[in-house]
This record gives sequence, structure tokens and C-alpha cells, in this order.
Amino acid sequence: INQLYGPLNWFGTYYRMIQQNFIDMEKMLSLFKEQQSVQDLPGAKDLKVTEGSVIFENIGFSYDPRNSALKDISFEIPKGKTVALVGPSGGGKSTILRLLFRFYDVGSGRILIDGQDIRLVKQESLRRSIGVVPQDTVLFNETIYYNIHYGNVNASEEEVYKAAKAAQIHDRILNFPDGYETRVGERGLRLSGGEKQRVAIARTMLKDPPIILLDEATSALDTTTERQIQYALSNMTKDRTTLVIAHRLSTIINADLILCIKDGQVVEQGSHDELIQKAIENGGEGVYYEMWQKQLRDESEGKIIGENEGSS
Ligand code: ATP
Repeated sequence: INQLYGPLNWFGTYYRMIQQNFIDMEKMLSLFKEQQSVQDLPGAKDLKVTEGSVIFENIGFSYDPRNSALKDISFEIPKGKTVALVGPSGGGKSTILRLLFRFYDVGSGRILIDGQDIRLVKQESLRRSIGVVPQDTVLFNETIYYNIHYGNVNASEEEVYKAAKAAQIHDRILNFPDGYETRVGERGLRLSGGEKQRVAIARTMLKDPPIILLDEATSALDTTTERQIQYALSNMTKDRTTLVIAHRLSTIINADLILCIKDGQVVEQGSHDELIQKAIENGGEGVYYEMWQKQLRDESEGKIIGENEGSS
């Protein structure tokens, strides 16, 4: 009987996992009002990820025909590398993430994963290959164990603990009233923003996707938590192709490439050192340089950068 129900169960949970990703994505990308506009083409094949390289080729996109959200965006993330998106609010960073997850089809240009146009593959296969870590993760009113295990329902207990350790949340969980059996979520133990993000990291590590979309939390964290998050993130993104909306200096500095997005365009790009060097040669002028200076000032003053940490 188990054998009979096994696959069915697996499918059900897997389906819920996809839905959950939707919930997270919806929250992260504020898509509540949006209808799902994207359909699989007849005869669409599964995406085959061999390397996990991502190419945006002359991407244009508009939500509204009178305003373009993205204009001719091109960049490449080679296998296993990290590209950080920075820039002012409304510049188009989230839109870039949404397009890679194919919440919308591009207006012009192509997005390729290992050479395959993402419009030509099954959405389910695309989304299976992409892990999403939103700013604010939705937790089920279930045990903490359930919430992590959800990333891969076939994972063993040992694998769950291993993922939690890599995400720097294992020790914290052992200190919860009932350890891994502690109920969390709205009706259970309320976790801080930093804890929730580490749960999302553990879940994603269990899912083990080749590509990661990360919307970094903006909240100011204490030094210990900041270091734990940094460590968890570097465990997760190591050897995975990563596109991150970056708010933390450590993430930005460690990125292989930084794209400064403003008014739907890439206005500056390069590594941290290259961008700073270029700005210094220009007498201290540059979008990135100014942002970086401001961030340094904010962080040294311990100013809260975004929303408050701690409310769940
Ligand atoms: P933030 O840092 O504030 O999250 P962002 O750089 O991620 O900003 P986007 O959210 O990608 O910027 O927005 C890019 C542009 O698209 C903005 O002008 C925004 O108003 C517009 N936009 C975003 N989402 C929608 C939507 N669902 N419908 C219509 N316009 C949208």
C-alpha cells in the first residue's frame, strides 16, 4: 500500500512545494493582484540544467505599455557565480528576478539557461531548478522540522539536520521549547526575520537547486546574527548560480559581478573594486560609489537600513 501511495503523496507534496514557492514569490514580488499570464507551449520540453549558466540577452519588459520597466538589459551569470543587483527603489531589480522565474514573459530579447530559451521549456521544470529565498518567508503552522523538510520531502532526518547546520539555525532550534518538534508560524513560536531567513536557506539547501534567486533582507542585524546569515548565505550560494538583490555590504563585495540598475537600465557594472576604482578616477563620481559611501555611513552609525528585524 505504501508503494502505491508513495508516488501520489510525493506528487501532492511536491505540488504544494511549488505552490509554496508561489506564495513566497508572491509575497516577495507582490504579485497578489497579478493573474498568471504565462502558459507552457504545446510540446514544451523539460529544462535540462547541465551547468546552470544564465544569460539575459537584450531584455526589454513593460508592465504597462506606456512605461518600460526594463530597457535592453544584458548580462551573463556563468555557472556557479554570483551577480548582485543594486540600485534605487523602482529601478527594476525585482522585475529581473520575476522574469527569470518566468512570472512574466519578456517583451523583447531572450533569457537563456544553459542555452535554452526559458519560454520554450515547461514552467514546472524551470521552477524546480530555481530556489527562491525571499525577504520574508512564509512559515506553515507546523513544526520547524516540517518547515525545513518541505524543501525536499524525500530527504532523511540527517539531511534535514545537515541543512539546518549549514544554514546556521540548528543550534537555535535545539534551544526552542520542543526542539525540532516546536510549532512555528502565526499560531506557534514566532521567529525573527533573521531566523526565518535562515529557515528559508535551510529549506533551499535541502531542495538543492542549481540556480538561486535571493532577495536579501534589508533589516539591520546584530553582529552575531549578521555573521551567521553571511555564513549561511555563502554555504548556500557556493557553487550555485546566484542572482541576488543585495542589501548587505558583505554580499555586494563578494559578488563576482555587480549590476547597478536604474530606470530599467544597467548604468554601471563591474566588481566592487573596479567600480570604486573607476569612481575615484572620475573624482569620486558614480552611482555605485555614492551608494556605497552612504551604506558605509549607515552601517557605521548602526542605522536601520530597511524594515525592523524581530517582528514575525
Ligand atoms: P525596490 O528596490 O523598491 O524593490 P526594484 O528595483 O525591485 O525596486 P521593480 O519592483 O522591479 O523595482 O520595479 C520596476 C518598475 O516597474 C517600477 O517603476 C515599478 O513601479 C514598476 N512595477 C513593478 N511591479 C509592477 C506591477 N506589478 N505592475 C505595474 N508596474 C510595476
